[in-house]
Amino acid sequence: MDHSPSLVAFIDRDRRFVCHSAAWREWLGDARLDGRDLPDVIGAEAYEALRPHVDTALAGRPVHAETWVSRPPLGPRTIEISCVPQTSETGETRGFFAFVTDAAAGPGAEESEVHRRKKMEEALRDSQDRLRLAVEAAELGTWDWDLRTGAFTWNDRLGMLWDLPSTAQGDRGVFLSRIPPEDRGRVEQVLRDAIRPEGGGAYRVEFRILLPGDRTERWISGHISVLRDEAQQPVRLIGTTFDMTGRKLMDRELLFRKTLLESQSEAAIDGILVVDSAGRMLSFNRRFVQMWHIPPDVVAARSDEAAIASVLHNLVSPDKFVERVRYLYAHPEEESRDELALKDGRTFDRYSAAVRSAEGVIHGRVWYFRDMTEQKRQEEAMREGTARLQETLHELNTFAYTVAHDLRAPLRAMVGFSQVLLEDYAPALDSLAHDYIRRIAEAARRMDKLIQDLLTYSRLTRDLMPIENVELAPLVSEVLGRFEEEFRELGARVDVDGPLPPVRAHRVALHQVISNLLSNAVKFVAPGRRPEVRIHAQRKRGRVRLWVEDNGIGIAAEHQDRIFGVFQRLHSLADYPGTGIGLAIVKRAVERMGGRVGVESATGKGSRFWIEFRSAR
Ligand code: ADP
Repeated sequence: MDHSPSLVAFIDRDRRFVCHSAAWREWLGDARLDGRDLPDVIGAEAYEALRPHVDTALAGRPVHAETWVSRPPLGPRTIEISCVPQTSETGETRGFFAFVTDAAAGPGAEESEVHRRKKMEEALRDSQDRLRLAVEAAELGTWDWDLRTGAFTWNDRLGMLWDLPSTAQGDRGVFLSRIPPEDRGRVEQVLRDAIRPEGGGAYRVEFRILLPGDRTERWISGHISVLRDEAQQPVRLIGTTFDMTGRKLMDRELLFRKTLLESQSEAAIDGILVVDSAGRMLSFNRRFVQMWHIPPDVVAARSDEAAIASVLHNLVSPDKFVERVRYLYAHPEEESRDELALKDGRTFDRYSAAVRSAEGVIHGRVWYFRDMTEQKRQEEAMREGTARLQETLHELNTFAYTVAHDLRAPLRAMVGFSQVLLEDYAPALDSLAHDYIRRIAEAARRMDKLIQDLLTYSRLTRDLMPIENVELAPLVSEVLGRFEEEFRELGARVDVDGPLPPVRAHRVALHQVISNLLSNAVKFVAPGRRPEVRIHAQRKRGRVRLWVEDNGIGIAAEHQDRIFGVFQRLHSLADYPGTGIGLAIVKRAVERMGGRVGVESATGKGSRFWIEFRSAR
């Protein structure tokens, strides 16, 4: 190539020649330029003069300047330099095209405008070939619009990515038709801007394309370089397109995850702070700032050190706090949990652990703070309440016990004196008086029974009830033995059917329970009917259910729940005597032993009461 002032080269971000027009070699008298550093190629002195322009271009801004360089052996000369930066899809500058015109170079200085342009075009073609190789290697789709001839072409890769038929090559309309109408206006505007005479050297635009057929959507990052002639008139647009669909999808996914994480963090009741290994606050939620009253300037500074300093005055033991933080920062792998007392009376639960990547590399530390003040207050109140309640209960029990005891003494006196009256003064009293005295004695006895039942009931609440293995069979025989005489008087028949497996219960309480059920079973029977009771057991999934079935008057469905309450009776005393506490004792005792109780019955059809405990085997 001739000694030419039209020098075109692509310089990468490390200031190395990637490709260049042949003119460079001529100009510099150097055969090997590719891959070499710009300062090395053009010499330190010339580089110093060009350096501000190179810096500007690498910062992503186009340059059009005239400058004076001294370059042996050529000596001092004025050059015109235009730099067109090229940015990657992430916005980083990859390098720039440098168009250099040596104004004083040999015959070129006197060359006609036509000749100069021809030279420049040759240079461009030359560089274009090399650029094509670089572009193919980078898997970029490119297009080329020659503004003077109107020729619009694209490379094979773009044709493939955009699904453009080779027959359409050169048809800008087909090219643009791949861009959906919503984005097309934007792209066309950028093209219009690029070809304005006063426009810049490089443009970026992001848009979608829709492929014909299955209407697949792709995201494209486009870059347009504007090449201008000496009169700064745009002569050619070179576009590179990068398919960023994968990245876009990943970006969306990342954004979604980030939003998810942020909303989780904001919805948390804990104050959360994440700090990196250098002590910078990576993220935190509003709750953290509120809990600790972190001042806005500290929030803005994002320094953990400053955050710690701003909260120390709030703490009851700031030294201990700092010591712990220092220790944990020195031992990044350690997990920690402790409680912090604040001067304003609040208590925080502090939890901290390492932030690890999937590969286990530690990137920092996460801190969780939970305000435990209200919970602590409630726990304290509950503890106090329970203690007070226990004290009251104890007092009440003692009181009830004493009162009951003291009540029983006058009752016994009443029964005793009625007895004396009936025995010693019988002849002096008429039959009505006899009846009254009997009623007084009867009422006193009844009241005594009532007091005894209430005492039993209250003891079931108060006394410890250790659970043990209880053999049911001997226990039932024992209860039956106690009722033997009563059953005989009533003519009652009680059958025990099948084996009675041992259960987990409290022996004495269970004795009481079975006694109450049995006495009801033979009591609530229609007049004139012989009571018949059947006792049997069922084993089911580790539990034993003991049935006490009678042939009595039965219980209507609507009463079956309430009969287990205190003083709940369905009949008059005249029909069936009782205190109304028997079943309440059964229920409380069974439940305290971890068991359950129930009844199946219908009016006139007998009742089937059951109690259920854990099996002892
Ligand atoms: P009490 O037997 O002293 O009346 P309970 O608490 O033992 O008190 O029983 C409450 C009520 O439940 C009884 O008054 C009675 O109406 C009903 N009841 C209890 N057991 C039976 C039963 N086996 N058959 C019919 N009714 C019963």
